[in-house]
Amino acid sequence: MKFKALVIDLDGSVYHGDNLIERADEALNSLSKKYDLLYLTNNSTRSRAEFARKLANFGISCTKHQLITSGYAAAQYIQEHYASSKIYVIGEQGLKDELTEHDITISEDDCDCVLVGLDTEFTYKRMTKALNYILKGAVFIATNNDPFLITSVGVKPGAGSLVSAIETACGKKAIVTGKPSTFISDLIIKKLEVKPHEILVVGDNLQTDILMGIKGGMRTALVLTGASIMSDIEKLQIHPDFIFKSITQIPLKI
Ligand SMILES: [Mg+2]
Repeated sequence: MKFKALVIDLDGSVYHGDNLIERADEALNSLSKKYDLLYLTNNSTRSRAEFARKLANFGISCTKHQLITSGYAAAQYIQEHYASSKIYVIGEQGLKDELTEHDITISEDDCDCVLVGLDTEFTYKRMTKALNYILKGAVFIATNNDPFLITSVGVKPGAGSLVSAIETACGKKAIVTGKPSTFISDLIIKKLEVKPHEILVVGDNLQTDILMGIKGGMRTALVLTGASIMSDIEKLQIHPDFIFKSITQIPLKI
């Protein structure tokens, strides 16, 4: 197979929180000489510029234009479909920064769209407000459905937990823009300007990275440094094209 571009998941594939996976920097800098690299994360708490800085601090060269976050995908989706809407945001500053950069109006009053991402300051009061906007007909969008996050201080609830709470309350399902949605895979294909089968998606999570790649017609590589383990492949019946122990094992000619 001849690939033109690699899409690289971040957490669990390149680093674990604040710790770089050993020699991932060298591997990515070598791969970047051969392929177009696009970094991908469902984490909406930071903007693309902040993730680019984080990677630079690890010695991985990358600009914000080589990054897609679920927050950026949500901003693109809203700009495409609800550009004139007033958005009620449950989410952190990184998500708000992406919306502002897309000239999208964030508001607390008279909102006709609710966007939910990971928010460590999530409260019952904000949930109530979101619920009432949705019951009055506001569009309900979620950055992603990840149930939990693995951090250096243990497991924490992910954006999906907050989304589920609101879904339960309002009886409606959110439109999801992050992995494994086809919206984000279409965004990737548009950004890379290559055919889907010329893209290799590399990630540690079968249910997000690998599933998104398969649904989008791309090829996929599971790395065993994060969320999914070998036995999950049979259990979930999600089959990657390649399996590597770590991102450092990806050959330069793949
Ligand atoms: Mg990951």
